[in-house]
Amino acid sequence: MNTHLSNEQFTEIFVAGAPDAACEGHLAGCAQCRAELEKFAASVGLFSTVALQWSETRPQAATRPAPRWTAARWAFAPVGWALAAAVVISVGVPAWRYDHRAPVAGALAGAADATVDSPADIAQDNALLEQVNVALTTNEDSPLPEYRLGQRDVRVR
Ligand SMILES: [Zn+2]
Repeated sequence: MNTHLSNEQFTEIFVAGAPDAACEGHLAGCAQCRAELEKFAASVGLFSTVALQWSETRPQAATRPAPRWTAARWAFAPVGWALAAAVVISVGVPAWRYDHRAPVAGALAGAADATVDSPADIAQDNALLEQVNVALTTNEDSPLPEYRLGQRDVRVR
């Protein structure tokens, strides 16, 4: 046989032995393919030895399970910072404004407490609120009657 063994055949021979009688017969009669197979085996063996030595020099890295969310954590880090900034802004700014407004509000509350509302004041306030209510209901037409909202006989079909 003039054609020598292919790389795939060398791999098969190395992994599981000769796949068929023709391949085994060629290998028995061809010194060149035997030499090639020995080089192939030496190369694979050298690669295995080097890989084993490399993994033995890194015992912690080889035995420790890889952190599952490392890549995802770094990918979402900007999102986390943006979220933290949003929390600081939405909670911190109103709290800061409340702290700086508190003395004024306290002063107003003290002033209100100093003068107790008389029944006449309460009646005047109620009259004012009633005027406001009348003004609001008469100046603007409410859309509620148009859509028959707020009526008792509205039935949802
Ligand atoms: Zn050959």
